[in-house]
Amino acid sequence: MKPKILLQAALPAPLIAELQQRYQLIDYQTLTAADFAAMAADFQLLLTNGEATVTRELIAALPNLALIAVFGVGYDGVDVVAAREHQVAVTHTPGVLTDDVADLAMGLMLATSRQIVAAQQFIQQGGWAQGGYPWTRKVSGSRLGIVGLGRIGMAVAKRAQGFDMSIAYCNRTPLADAPWHYQPDLLTLAQQSDYLLLCTPGGASTRHLINRPVLDALGKQGTLINISRGSVVDQQALIAALDEGTLGAAGLDVFDDEPRVPEALQNRANVVITPHIASATWSTRQAMSQRVLDNVRAYFAGHPLVTPIP
Ligand code: NDP
Repeated sequence: MKPKILLQAALPAPLIAELQQRYQLIDYQTLTAADFAAMAADFQLLLTNGEATVTRELIAALPNLALIAVFGVGYDGVDVVAAREHQVAVTHTPGVLTDDVADLAMGLMLATSRQIVAAQQFIQQGGWAQGGYPWTRKVSGSRLGIVGLGRIGMAVAKRAQGFDMSIAYCNRTPLADAPWHYQPDLLTLAQQSDYLLLCTPGGASTRHLINRPVLDALGKQGTLINISRGSVVDQQALIAALDEGTLGAAGLDVFDDEPRVPEALQNRANVVITPHIASATWSTRQAMSQRVLDNVRAYFAGHPLVTPIP
């Protein structure tokens, strides 16, 4: 009998196919309450992605659960306190997606400032025949404030150096070996930045870290770039700041209530939006899949987990 794994959220088809060779994957969404109750004790392992929610109730309902393997680096959807209480380990996929997310952050910075999307629409709508596109803002040489200088934040900082940007960052703890200016006060960082880039984890500790005062400090000439989690930004405050013109622009890959994106963030020349695709390239998704496989195999072989959460 192949061991059963509870599949709680969508994962790439090749990963599923690979797992099915050795394990029996049971799709949580298709289980009736009675099916679930009958099978709950069979699951030692639960697979999820970085966007789904693994609640305390679900963890408690699986008496033999030992591992939650997350496809993604962010594990804010998992109730890690409950997992720890139930002695359930959690793994994620750090590192392999860093470059992609940093690339998209740079892309959003360039696309918002140079209005690449709106400029294409301008051509498509025949605007060029009536005259040139309005001038936009320069990226090179500007000031970048990074909120959350971890793996991804650092990868963006390295790219931004190539654009001769001056770089400052805000973490809860300064990094001993980072060559960039540490600014512990978020409001000051926002005031002193042309771009405020969010690279923190999501979850309760960072919820609405970016509120109206921070957006006002960033100001009319400032651009917010969010590739972290929608929950980090007070989305209503962001919309209000854009409506009132107190914030210059925004580039967003993540939102409050995905996949719903408020009308107010769509169809604005100064807002560029993407549907949570920062790590979604073929090679990175393969590497993330491999990380998940490595952790699952390590678990069933009784070996140490490859990438447990810190
Ligand atoms: P890391 O853990 O390497 O970095 C996170 C950084 O955030 C750390 O430097 C940490 O420093 C800092 N941080 C945490 N809390 C705060 C806070 N309250 N204020 C300021 N800084 C804070 O993670 P990664 O760089 O690998 O990933 C970051 C996040 O990016 C993920 O958790 C995920 O949510 C998101 N992500 C989004 C993707 C997308 O598709 N859009 C794809 C991949 C990741 P310190 O502890 O000192 O505060």
